[in-house]
Amino acid sequence: MKNRWSDRDAKSCVDEYISRTVNEDLALRVYSSRLLGSEPELVLHGGGNTSVKTRIFDIVGKETEVLCVKGSGYDLKVIEPAGFPAVRLRPIREVFTLESMTDEELINVQRTNLFDASAPNPSVETLLHAFLPYKFVDHTHANAVLTLTDQKNGAQICRDVFGDTLGLVPYVMPGFALAKKAQEVFEQNKAVEGLLVLKHGIFTFGENAKESYDRMINLVTKAELEIIKRQNKRNSFPKKTPKSLISVSKLAPILRGMLALEQGGVKQSFVMDFRTSAKIRNFLESKELRVYGKKGTITPDHIIRTKAFPMVVPTPEKGKLEKFRKGCKKALDKYVYEYHAYFERNNGYRKGVKTELDPFPRVILIPSVGLFGLGEDAFAASVASDLAETNIKVISDVEAMGTFEGISEADIFDVEYWALEQAKLGPPSQKPLNQKIVAITGGGSGIGAATARVFSDAGAIVVVLDLNETSAPMVAEEINGFSLICDVTKVKSVAGAFGKICKKFGGLDILVSNAGAAWQGRIGEVDDTLLRQSFDLNFFAHQSVAQAAVRIFLDQKIGGCLLFNASKQAVNPGRNFGPYGLPKAATMFLMRQYALDYGEEGIRSNAINADRIRTGILNNDLITSRAKARGISKKEYMSGNLLRCEVKAEDVAKGFLHLALAEKTTGAVLTVDGGNIPAALR
Ligand code: ZN
Repeated sequence: MKNRWSDRDAKSCVDEYISRTVNEDLALRVYSSRLLGSEPELVLHGGGNTSVKTRIFDIVGKETEVLCVKGSGYDLKVIEPAGFPAVRLRPIREVFTLESMTDEELINVQRTNLFDASAPNPSVETLLHAFLPYKFVDHTHANAVLTLTDQKNGAQICRDVFGDTLGLVPYVMPGFALAKKAQEVFEQNKAVEGLLVLKHGIFTFGENAKESYDRMINLVTKAELEIIKRQNKRNSFPKKTPKSLISVSKLAPILRGMLALEQGGVKQSFVMDFRTSAKIRNFLESKELRVYGKKGTITPDHIIRTKAFPMVVPTPEKGKLEKFRKGCKKALDKYVYEYHAYFERNNGYRKGVKTELDPFPRVILIPSVGLFGLGEDAFAASVASDLAETNIKVISDVEAMGTFEGISEADIFDVEYWALEQAKLGPPSQKPLNQKIVAITGGGSGIGAATARVFSDAGAIVVVLDLNETSAPMVAEEINGFSLICDVTKVKSVAGAFGKICKKFGGLDILVSNAGAAWQGRIGEVDDTLLRQSFDLNFFAHQSVAQAAVRIFLDQKIGGCLLFNASKQAVNPGRNFGPYGLPKAATMFLMRQYALDYGEEGIRSNAINADRIRTGILNNDLITSRAKARGISKKEYMSGNLLRCEVKAEDVAKGFLHLALAEKTTGAVLTVDGGNIPAALR
């Protein structure tokens, strides 16, 4: 493992933070924590923790010795000084005289001794950092260390490899019990450079940041070299892979729909994240798959995000979609049954005090194809995928030299249902469109961009589709969403874009079919090409995207929502606007046809009838000329409605949101035009 320490970088980090009144100890703590955090072979997504013991002054100038330890849930890769709450050292060291402590007592001791009352919760490993007499302490879940310890004879291997350099701590539940055990081991040999917690990870320490960091890198490197030396077993031969497989974009919605939870009468599904590589596929074809399927995770740190076991589904052979669907259903039923049984077994043993979490997997393994991570949002799904990939890597390495063995089922349960561990996930977001995947055509500007913003604010995962290669990514970046370049008038381009959405997120819940453009011409003389061009964009494109969305909805079997941008022209034609109004009128009836044909499947279809929306330069010219023709100002023209107010793109966006949330409305046209009786539906 590369040692990334640089004296120059360390100094510039210290200089920068000292100018912001952060002391040198904490500045160096931030520097080397980030070095650890940026190495995925050491820690992933908020894993690991670090600390420094230092002295700070309180409000009356009294100097106090404190432990600045990583706050629970903070990510080492990007940590700032504020991510290290300071805890008064003396009082928290005193608890080591106790025999046991409840979680509530532990949190209380840590919080009541915080130097800053508003600081985040210190790490669950705070006590372990506190008793060690060294100034700097680093803790990681290094892959190489886990590869050595997660084996049947892991303790012996570690003893052979590390000798007296590391104290070996048997696996104990993190928190007070682990801190006590670690202290006991440390007392036996205070000359160690660190502690190895079996089937969990490694702690190193030193008098300065560099010493502790160097020890971490050196020990992990030692483990890495040992693995290379010991990997003498032949890799198991892959089974014969069927030549043709169902595409990932086709099978993703099937799985996503199957894993939907009923919440308040609405089916809510996870967001998924697909991963594949030669290494993953090789693992999925090997006998090691059974190991991962049955023996749990490589470190307890992963359990809250991946659950202890993945779900394994059958190989999706092309042309056998129904067989695959049935096989998945069977696998899921089995998974849920086994999860209930696991919960009952372990909760019963602990006097039934815990409440069961949802019984669904967070990792799905698909032989010959790859894996899906599942989560409440796109980020959580990608975290599950990252951790699953790491599990595959470590278990593959273990199985190439020995036999994988993780922590026991009882230990898994204790960690999964540990309140302090669950607290790391934070309270679930309560926005109305959480977990909903939304595609918006013409999302790069005007009404589409406004809708992207409004839906994103409502918690949705928004995919901005647009022909424009610059505006779509800009909108996506602004709302932390995603963008795809798509020509909605080309069926192939539409199929490609919707396939990508399924591959990236697992499926689709809402389509806002918004892309359109206004062509003009006197109908008796209008050029046929122009009229057909308008029909292509203002009617057929709506049909293409709606069809692509409905195909996904039907595979998911959890309903769906279609929203069309109709226009005032669809209801109340304007002179010389035939080329625009005619396809729009057809689109309004298209909306109704979808409502009629797919209501039974829970698919809703609605439209918005908006008028006089300022959306761009072109449209601005049109507004100017129309106002001029009527001899009124632009402002008067824009507010020429019953409410006498200008209707904005954002108002239309809010209308779409309203329809998306109106669970009992389908086949409806919502008017967003400030009031215009000639354009009212009758
Ligand atoms: Zn840990």
